[in-house]
Amino acid sequence: MPITQPQHRPPQDLGCPMLQIATGCSHGKCRFCSIFDGVPFAPAPAHEVTADIVEIARTATSTTRRIYLTGGNPFALPTRRLIEVFDEVECHIPQVNSYGGFCRIIDVAHKTDADLAKLAARGVNDITIGAESGFDEALAFMEKGHTAADIVEQARRLREAGIEFTFFYLVGMAGAGRGQENAIATARAFSAAHPKRILAVCMTPSPKWPLTADIRSGRWVPPTEVEMAQEIRTFIEHLDCECTVDCSHDTDIIRFEGGIPHNKQGMLELLDNRIPKMNERAARRMREMLHHATF
Ligand code: SF4
Repeated sequence: MPITQPQHRPPQDLGCPMLQIATGCSHGKCRFCSIFDGVPFAPAPAHEVTADIVEIARTATSTTRRIYLTGGNPFALPTRRLIEVFDEVECHIPQVNSYGGFCRIIDVAHKTDADLAKLAARGVNDITIGAESGFDEALAFMEKGHTAADIVEQARRLREAGIEFTFFYLVGMAGAGRGQENAIATARAFSAAHPKRILAVCMTPSPKWPLTADIRSGRWVPPTEVEMAQEIRTFIEHLDCECTVDCSHDTDIIRFEGGIPHNKQGMLELLDNRIPKMNERAARRMREMLHHATF
């Protein structure tokens, strides 16, 4: 089955073959998302999954060890179906021993500890989670469908099952004037959750998002570029779990990557040096042009 929907993949999975086992997103309500607009969440037909596995096997090499499961949240599928797919993959490509893809915090909550242990044993690891923020007010406004407490609790269960995870952090999600609150609450929740990696992405509103109506009505006001950079600085300052912070997405104006705790001071010094030199208009213009944004 051709992969027709846009796919957001974390940088660490860009080299993996993609396998579509589900389409759409089972949530589909986040106000900052239009990726799967009009595409209901559904498992891909079994015969199409089989055909795709055979196709991947044709070009697989001895280094094809990991498969990226596409879609908004393929791990929402029942564990039984996921294991069936893994069996089929490994029947055709026996060297595969690792699976990744997007997973919602609530998908983890819907799995039992025994499910998580089974998935871990079959190679599910380094999954990607759009945690986005640890600030409950922003999470609720954006209809993300989880709270900061959910993030911490489900992360604990993943860690106990031996499944590592990467978090997306949506900088600016709380809107103008709330960046510092968002940074501190998110650093607190993420530090407790202890992701392996944090990918920071700056809020870049698209005309297709439900949030556009909130911007037009004044219910939500985008933060400035400088406020978002200051939010990132405060987030890093308060982050105290061992992890990598990757701030090199094309929505990020000041780009860098480093580890916490050993590169924390260096990242703060970089931001302290660069933030006062930021050109608000140029930074905004760049993001408008790259993403057809509606600020
Ligand atoms: S959970 Fe992810 S894919 Fe689904 S609506 Fe929210 S941001 Fe979009």
